[in-house]
Amino acid sequence: MAKCLITGGAGFIGSHLTEKLLGEGNEIVVVDNFSTGEKSNLSHIADHPKLTLVTGSITDQTLLTEVVRGVDTIYHLAAAVGVKLVAEDPVRTIETNIYPTEWLLRLAAQTGCRFYLASTSEVYGKNPKEKWTEEEDLHFGPTSKPRWAYGCSKAIDEFLALAYHQKYDLPVVIGRFFNVVGPRQVGNYGMVVPRFIDQALSGGPLVVYDDGQQVRCFAHVKEIVDCIATLTNTDEAVGDIYNIGSDQSVSIEQLAKEVIKRVDPTIEIQYVAYSDAYGNDFEDVRRRIPDVSKLGKMIGKKPGMPLGEILDDIIAWKRSVKD
Ligand code: UDP
Repeated sequence: MAKCLITGGAGFIGSHLTEKLLGEGNEIVVVDNFSTGEKSNLSHIADHPKLTLVTGSITDQTLLTEVVRGVDTIYHLAAAVGVKLVAEDPVRTIETNIYPTEWLLRLAAQTGCRFYLASTSEVYGKNPKEKWTEEEDLHFGPTSKPRWAYGCSKAIDEFLALAYHQKYDLPVVIGRFFNVVGPRQVGNYGMVVPRFIDQALSGGPLVVYDDGQQVRCFAHVKEIVDCIATLTNTDEAVGDIYNIGSDQSVSIEQLAKEVIKRVDPTIEIQYVAYSDAYGNDFEDVRRRIPDVSKLGKMIGKKPGMPLGEILDDIIAWKRSVKD
């Protein structure tokens, strides 16, 4: 059993990871400032004897120094996330996503603890290839478009983590998430699945941006945290980068239809221009499909839950919290 620090452990993905690792008997310290994380995400396990919840920001260096003490593994998930939030506050994105990562890596290097870095498919930017392997080039747009600040900040985190691995032999594992969805995800920061489900449960319409022909792959958070935990504890995985997500693709228009079919077939779709949704300096990514064979080979599994099953699970959760 290990002692683990989970930054962002009250967030959407972090809370599922906290729950899983606690369930396996590990001791968990969560640091979260509840900017996008929610106390309610951990309320069902708040009294667990092996869980310590520290309210604070990862930008607080003194706090980080304290919480790292005695830890075997750091899962660094805290970040400014969500396309909407990132586009609205690029300064916060850079400050939250870069400096604290470097500080945490430095602390980890002093103790030699294992380090999982949560990165993102946003690092591929708008790479035009059909499917992205981990060795693909990064295709960011201009710095005048704030969206790219997120991918760039995470790319710098990756450079830092790999550099600490090379220089100090720090056992780092980097995972690039692709559109993770599931219970506890909220739509306030731009995430399409909770937004569509909220819109459908309120009677519609579902607001699809542009022509809805953008392509994404959605994976259930339970499968994602399983991959994170297994990958981080696989010695051969250390020092490398892995795409973590589903490779079953769907257009956003089709996604909207799948949600409508499940909630109320009379609901309509409303098509809205990007400029009306995000302002004029927004650029979207047209296609995003991961090649997850490296993950599959390394840990012998990859996320595979069908989209319909994922949507059913989230709709059931939304209905349960609404009642
Ligand atoms: N999208 C949409 N309606 C919404 C939110 C998003 O049509 O209310 C589209 C968005 O333009 C993008 C896709 O859904 O093409 C996924 O958006 P999200 O913000 O969930 O993730 P990301 O763009 O990071 O993949």
